[in-house]
Amino acid sequence: MTMKAEPPCGGHQLAGPGHAVPGAAFGVDHDADYEPAGALLAAVFDGCEPCTRHRKREVLDGDRLLIVDLASSVFIYLPVLDEDVSATTKAFHPLARGVRETRDGSALYQAVTALNRDGLEDLLTDALRYHIRAEEGLSGFDIPDAPAAPGTAPRQVLVDDIPALYGLGIGRIPTSQGELPMLALMPENPAAGLEHLRDRCQWPAFDMREVPPVDTRWQVIIDQATRTLLSVMRVHDDGRPEIDLWGTDVIDPLPDSWFALAEQQGRVLLCGPQPREDLSPGRARQAAAQGRMRGIVALAVLQPALL
Ligand SMILES: [Zn+2]
Repeated sequence: MTMKAEPPCGGHQLAGPGHAVPGAAFGVDHDADYEPAGALLAAVFDGCEPCTRHRKREVLDGDRLLIVDLASSVFIYLPVLDEDVSATTKAFHPLARGVRETRDGSALYQAVTALNRDGLEDLLTDALRYHIRAEEGLSGFDIPDAPAAPGTAPRQVLVDDIPALYGLGIGRIPTSQGELPMLALMPENPAAGLEHLRDRCQWPAFDMREVPPVDTRWQVIIDQATRTLLSVMRVHDDGRPEIDLWGTDVIDPLPDSWFALAEQQGRVLLCGPQPREDLSPGRARQAAAQGRMRGIVALAVLQPALL
């Protein structure tokens, strides 16, 4: 049983709930709710020290998969550590890097569960430092832009299993074809970002002026009864999901005006990456001018009530 204490300040917006840390990637038979880890990252990115302390305790007291995920999601992609990281992190780093070859994350889970409280805290503190660096622009990380070569028969494709996590910013954008509902994708881990949207999702460049083409493989699924955004995904021809970009099962109604616009237009502009700390049009235009903005127009799919 977990008790949730109120955060010390007004709290920090955690966009993109509903993610789970996949236990299978780490040789564990259960998944862990990502929420405490996401809330910690939100507090860290917002620079709120009381909330960071509070959320760190929550993660340290929680499922070990959370620390494994927070640490591996940066250290797998980091070729070189800073000199001043803890001894625990220096020991964990080669294990994380090794997963790129072994494709088996169970050693990471075992290493973390063997740590005492000080070791866990050291590893978490170092991992958060690199999450901030990733948030600021990925410098020093080597993210693979292609999945593993076929034929390697991975037991568990851990690197590919670490999902690119995004938060969503909700907006509207005037276009020559009328106003369109918009969702801005905000990267929440190093696997998410420009390279992911460009290479894996194959989104074309978006200059914030010319509306990108409609790509009917991309769908924004909205539950009609609760007016809740359920998922953003690319589907195969037969309707099976191919790329899950975002999803939740938390009921959280969209703003009425946004829902009405999506219903009327039948499509939604997806664009990103946008930094979560600045969703202003000015910042977006600047990124677009530098060729760092990608976008696609997805179908808005209103799903009739299932329950
Ligand atoms: Zn706070």
